[in-house]
Amino acid sequence: MSAPHSELPVIVAGGGIGGLAAALALVRQGFRVKVLEQAPELGEIGAGMQLGPNAFHAFDALGVGEQARKRAVYTDFMVMHDAIDEYQVGKIPTGEAFRQRFGNPYAVIHRADAHGALLEGVQASGQIGFVTSTRVVRIEQDATGVTAHDQQGQAHRGLALIGADGVKSVVRQQFVGDPARVTGHVVYRAVVDKADFPEDLRWNAASIWVGPNCHLVHYPLRGGEQYNVVVTFHSRNTEEWGVTEGSQAEVQSYFQGLCPKARQLIDLPKSWKRWATADREPIGQWSFGRVTLLGDAAHPTTQYMAQGACMAIEDAVTLGESLRVHGNDIEKGFDLYQRSRVARTARIVLSSREMGRIYHAKGVERLVRNDLWKGRTPERFYDAMEWLYGWNVQNCLADH
Ligand SMILES: Cc1cc2nc3c(=O)[nH]c(=O)nc-3n(C[C@H](O)[C@H](O)[C@H](O)COP(=O)(O)OP(=O)(O)OC[C@H]3O[C@@H](n4cnc5c(N)ncnc54)[C@H](O)[C@@H]3O)c2cc1C
Repeated sequence: MSAPHSELPVIVAGGGIGGLAAALALVRQGFRVKVLEQAPELGEIGAGMQLGPNAFHAFDALGVGEQARKRAVYTDFMVMHDAIDEYQVGKIPTGEAFRQRFGNPYAVIHRADAHGALLEGVQASGQIGFVTSTRVVRIEQDATGVTAHDQQGQAHRGLALIGADGVKSVVRQQFVGDPARVTGHVVYRAVVDKADFPEDLRWNAASIWVGPNCHLVHYPLRGGEQYNVVVTFHSRNTEEWGVTEGSQAEVQSYFQGLCPKARQLIDLPKSWKRWATADREPIGQWSFGRVTLLGDAAHPTTQYMAQGACMAIEDAVTLGESLRVHGNDIEKGFDLYQRSRVARTARIVLSSREMGRIYHAKGVERLVRNDLWKGRTPERFYDAMEWLYGWNVQNCLADH
């Protein structure tokens, strides 16, 4: 850890997974940090997420690998079935051979537990201040620092600012101002107790059922005591980007013609949350003097690669490393951070769109999809995943 750089803190706008990871990376570099969060309390929504080995490499680099690993469920495989006829499209073992290959496991975790692992690290550092119920609305910067103005008219002075304020980032709006690309795909998410989850689907796996204009995902959480259920469909309405309470009747009006094993998933949850999703076109500039973007604010993506949060944690590690090699020079560090992250995260955004197309294929395209990975060995799957899961703190920086 380097010596403290300035009395002024770096301001992090947003205390989600990306914001907390950034705060940790910055204190490990010797900065003081102040996190401004709009919600009255720090926390996460009640849903699961998948974490690739790259996320665990990043947790390790932030010193919270053990905290994350102890809360995760380790899956034996990832599996994809055709939701119409139960055909197994692909199955990738994620046990010991996978762990050996990538040096860390594939896992599923409750979002609150991933956030909690980072929060434990943040609290242990004793160097990070939190200000909740504080929504950043505007930023000014000059030669020596930044001023973040909040919705109550208060001004927060800092050395620099990290916009980790999520998909509808105010920081991005001010510095980029680009439109969202609403997909028309709607996601329903719920967590179900094991007792209510069908025995014939209690696989220790990240499982996906793919169908025409839809797909369904399930996996265990919290030692298998709960199951995460996520279903996605193409809405027949014009959607606006946002989260609302779901309606059982709406979700049941989709998913016609699926095999009973897959369809039973939509009857399980007693209450659902509904996401109308969007992403944005990847951009080449995230750093604007003493301000930079991180996580969903920098590269909002559809969820089909299950990598949004993984990328946010990688961003944080790369940000810390970029500042380290430039002796904590903010502008040089932010420039290297951006150059190190743009192509990789754009690949996630673009691959995710393509994955959505593959998942939701119909007609002849569905037949092509079902043939894509026929006979493919685990080693060939692993080779194809090397670019993604082979990321680590040693190889995270662009040339400098
Ligand atoms: C259906 C679905 C499934 C997903 N599954 C996975 C998965 O399996 N694996 C994976 O890695 N990722 C997954 N993701 C993506 C993941 O959820 C996000 O990429 C991740 O949460 C981004 O973290 P973040 O900290 O950048 O943003 P957020 O989690 O959105 O956090 C932003 C924070 O900033 C706060 N905030 C917002 N505006 C302001 C403001 N103006 N001032 C102050 N505070 C503000 C918010 O309250 C929030 O706390 C999924 C996403 C969806 C929608």
